[in-house]
Amino acid sequence: MSAQRREFLPFSRPSINEDDIAGVVESLRSGWITTGPKTARFEEEFRAYTGAAHACSLASATAGMHLVLLALGIGEGDEVITPSLTWVSTVNLITLLGARPVFADIDRGTMMITPAGVEPLITEKTRAIVPVHYAGAPADLDGFRALARNHGVHLIEDAAHALGTRFGNELIGSRGTAVFSFHPIKNITTAEGGMVVGDDEELIEKIRVLKFHGLGKDAWQRYSRRGSNQVEVVVPGFKYNMTDLQASLGLTQLPRLEGFNRRREELANRYDRLLADVEEIILPSAPRYPHVHSHHLYIVFLDTDKAGIGRDDFLTRLKERNIGTGIHFRAAHTQQYYREHGFGPGLLPETEWVSERLFSLPFFPEMLDSDVDDAVEAIKDALAEARRP
Ligand SMILES: *Cc1c(COP(=O)(O)O)cnc(C)c1O
Repeated sequence: MSAQRREFLPFSRPSINEDDIAGVVESLRSGWITTGPKTARFEEEFRAYTGAAHACSLASATAGMHLVLLALGIGEGDEVITPSLTWVSTVNLITLLGARPVFADIDRGTMMITPAGVEPLITEKTRAIVPVHYAGAPADLDGFRALARNHGVHLIEDAAHALGTRFGNELIGSRGTAVFSFHPIKNITTAEGGMVVGDDEELIEKIRVLKFHGLGKDAWQRYSRRGSNQVEVVVPGFKYNMTDLQASLGLTQLPRLEGFNRRREELANRYDRLLADVEEIILPSAPRYPHVHSHHLYIVFLDTDKAGIGRDDFLTRLKERNIGTGIHFRAAHTQQYYREHGFGPGLLPETEWVSERLFSLPFFPEMLDSDVDDAVEAIKDALAEARRP
């Protein structure tokens, strides 16, 4: 083994600075730590950043996706078309609502579902299409919007990877309905948190009510001077609100997003350059339409035939060399529950090809150029070891 790193390089780490810390401390000292003025401000600043008409903050993107599907009335007997190569939350939510996930296969290069692949799956039962803007590249919004319009189905964008992504010149979230995540690995973080943005005011208002026990608007103010002590349940709801501690992080992180994304781009370019001549590593391809990439993840595929080693064993060898990695994602239809409920391997050849070969390399704004070099050296070293008889 050559050039072993002494310290473990994690696959991701949030960028937390003194402003983030001071903001949270200020909230802690203020006497108001749950949903409050900072949450309202973060919603407004996030809405303004994306250019969306409306925004509603939530405890997570998963909570947001749940309430979008619920508010659209999706349930028993309905079908929702989604990739299987996604975070499993979307598939779980569709299932929990009593609807059926219908998996579209992906384009191997971009790892995304395509309008051409989705169209034949649309039936009378289809209520929505949920594409993922994968790894930070935008899905084909022109194509999906046309499909949704022509077939009278909803388009819900999973924008968890797409903070700062543009389709053409259009910032993701500025039109339509999109769900963002602020989980610690995402491009900005609130520890946990999510935001639904959209131009359908009625939909966003429904989500606002559903996220807090089904109480009327601004129910969080009931303990403040302005609020009334009386609350009225208009529909059974959930407890999915974001707190001011989380929103405080959002307020100090959001202004740094563009800087984070610029650094992510530099790191991605360095990986691209250094991996170009490693023949066992296949790089995904960017969509052919004009776009701005948010570089949420740096994903590559291991050519398992050429490497003579499986992806999971290969990742163990990288870990032995102090390089952390992630798998984004294992195809949802290969998970136990879905195998036991009518899905399973063989259904989606492109998705399965990718799911068995992909991995995410260490990738976060505070990484050094030399960290990229170390990760690539570890890859070459692990490949050399696999080659030795
Ligand atoms: C992270 C992620 C989610 C879920 O976000 P949470 O805020 O953790 O609920 C959903 N979809 C995709 C594609 C994600 O990467």
